[in-house]
Amino acid sequence: ARIGATEAALLGTDFTVRATNGRDTRELASLAARLAAQAATSGAAGEIALLGGQPHQIVLVPLKAPVLAGWVLMGFPLEVRLAAEMKALSALNVTLLTRARADAPWTAALTSLPHEQAERLARDAWTEPAAAPQAMHAVAVGPAELGVKAQWLTPAPAFEHASADRAGVLALVSVSIDDAVRAPRDLQIGLLVITLLGFGVFVFGSLFSARRVTTPLRELASAAVRLGAGDYATPIQGLRRADEIGHLAQAFEQMRVSVAEKQAQILQLAYWDGLTGLPNRVQFRDAVRDAITQAQERASRGESSATVAVIMLDLDCFKHVNDVLGYPFGDLLLKGVAERLSQHAVRGGDLVARLGGDEFAVLLRRGDSALAESVAQRIGDALNAPLRLDEHTVDMSASLGMACWPAHALDADVLLSRAEVAMYVAKRRAQGALLYEASIDAASAQTLSLLTELRHAVDKGELRLYLQPKLQLDNGRIGGAEALVRWQHPQRGLVPPLEFIPFAEQTGFIRTLTIWVFEEAARHWLALQAAGVALTLSVNLSTRDLLDQDLPAKFDALLVKHRVPAEAFCLEITEGAIMDDPQRALATLNRLSALGFRLSIDDFGTGYSSLAYLKRLPVDELKIDKSFVIGMERDLDDLKIVRSTIDLAHNLGLTVVAEGVENAKVWELLRELDCDEAQGFHMGRPMPAAEFHQWTATWVAQQRARRGAGPASAFMLH
Ligand code: C2E
Ligand code: CA
Ligand code: CA
Repeated sequence: ARIGATEAALLGTDFTVRATNGRDTRELASLAARLAAQAATSGAAGEIALLGGQPHQIVLVPLKAPVLAGWVLMGFPLEVRLAAEMKALSALNVTLLTRARADAPWTAALTSLPHEQAERLARDAWTEPAAAPQAMHAVAVGPAELGVKAQWLTPAPAFEHASADRAGVLALVSVSIDDAVRAPRDLQIGLLVITLLGFGVFVFGSLFSARRVTTPLRELASAAVRLGAGDYATPIQGLRRADEIGHLAQAFEQMRVSVAEKQAQILQLAYWDGLTGLPNRVQFRDAVRDAITQAQERASRGESSATVAVIMLDLDCFKHVNDVLGYPFGDLLLKGVAERLSQHAVRGGDLVARLGGDEFAVLLRRGDSALAESVAQRIGDALNAPLRLDEHTVDMSASLGMACWPAHALDADVLLSRAEVAMYVAKRRAQGALLYEASIDAASAQTLSLLTELRHAVDKGELRLYLQPKLQLDNGRIGGAEALVRWQHPQRGLVPPLEFIPFAEQTGFIRTLTIWVFEEAARHWLALQAAGVALTLSVNLSTRDLLDQDLPAKFDALLVKHRVPAEAFCLEITEGAIMDDPQRALATLNRLSALGFRLSIDDFGTGYSSLAYLKRLPVDELKIDKSFVIGMERDLDDLKIVRSTIDLAHNLGLTVVAEGVENAKVWELLRELDCDEAQGFHMGRPMPAAEFHQWTATWVAQQRARRGAGPASAFMLH
């Protein structure tokens, strides 16, 4: 009783029961007999056993005084407390099942499970598994499911083999699977809640950062896109923020403002003429395009004023003004012209522009050809009044070309080029103003194709050199010959120089042509020299040649190349060529003269050369223009002009040549007037150079015969 045993028996040293605490002696005796062997060897023994159907812990210990006096067998009942304690320690339920016989049903002796559940487990659910009896098994107990692991507490009887059919105490350790699973499920819910919470925080954070950072950045980005697309007018948002984004926005804003300023400047430069403040070519072209679009709309509405007219004008002699009076004066003149045009020529809605250089244009947004002609007339009148600038009075004139939409062109570019073509033709014909016509263009197209062909003519050897003799009036000797170019065109036949020289001059191709003539003349000079005929060959120079600074050097090199002296050549220059740019012409002429070339003024009397200039030119010869010579035997005025020109030339120490001598009468008159040389159809037409060799031989022979016969004054052809 002191140590809580409910059963006790005193055994003798031979393990026979001597006394008990009242329990059935048989039961205790069989227990003692079972444990005797173990106790004898180990000094003590114990086991779990059923006593009165209840599980007990049985202990068999020796009773020593001090030698072994007997054994004490004690039984301690296994109580619910034990199960509760185990559950507290391990969170596992413990149930002890008992049965007295192997075929008896199980009884739940003690349990930490709810009583009813334990009953059910013992009565219905529990059957000992056949396989792996040591493992945990799932057992359905009513609605619940338990994980159960079984362990026999009573030792196996030696004779029994199938443990399933044992009697004794079976301990079941169980855990509710629902509970075991519930823990992770709670955890899952916990995780879900945490995830949701985290997501909430994330959404909030995103919204917050979007409001603070992303949205302003996106606004800046779209502002940058706007700037990229050329919209500099919309101010940039978010300038008041003090953070980095605010700084960025301010930087963007500064950029926007300065780009807008720059763009305004660029537009100003791109669309306006800096000198006159008028719209420039680009703006004019845009305006013409708009005007045409508007006219098209008017036409589609059936209005009558669906036309557009363009007038283009180019000042005559502006280059001259620039050269003589200087560029600042030229600028003043252009400004003056711009002013006159915008004040006098134009009505509201019309546009005046400076296209460049001395070229201006007027757009009549609702103009037709009649209106264009009357405005052109007004412009002509406005420019005709002399312009006073800086104490100078300048007389101005301009060439005007007009073209209309849709009569002459269907789009802006063609319209402009048509007006331009008309302007150039007006200039060439010195006609003032000219309305475009298809025939003009055809002519200029022909000119263009001619020019392309001319470029090839030199390479293909289509040019021919003709020579026309120049004769000395006093003795009839050959003084020289003029080299004149012809073009043997494969389709057109022999093309006279007046049909291609002017175009060659306009395009600058004349320089190539002059070199060709010069070299060809050098070859013929050498051939004639070899044949014993010594004479000077005249070569014509054009304005372009004279303005070419390198011409003297080029000629010098050709002299060396062909081994010809400069004295072999006389270079003919027209007055006009010299007066185009007197300064530069004088410089070139001085250098040519210094090289030893003879220089001649061609077509004298047709230009406006001033005597002051003439005096300073290093020329040797003066060639009276054929217009004065051809009819001089009939026209007294021409005779007077020829006479005074001969006197003038002689007074200046120059040789005089008369060209265009077509009959013997003129020859005779010139001889009387003391003219030095004569050139004309009467003595010899320009002829192919090869023919000229023949001609000279015949001429010299005739002269010899005639000299024997009589005086040279009796000279007659045939
Ligand atoms: P130009 O320099 O005044 O040449 C003289 C022109 O008068 C030549 O015309 C010649 O054939 C013509 N002529 C000569 N005698 C008479 C005559 O008795 N009566 C008439 N009515 N005419 C006569 P061409 O050969 O047709 O040349 C015309 C112009 O073409 C030349 O005028 C010259 O300015 C230019 N030219 C000809 N060849 C060349 C050249 O090689 N280079 C340059 N730069 N111009 C040339
Ligand atoms: Ca000539
Ligand atoms: Ca001439």
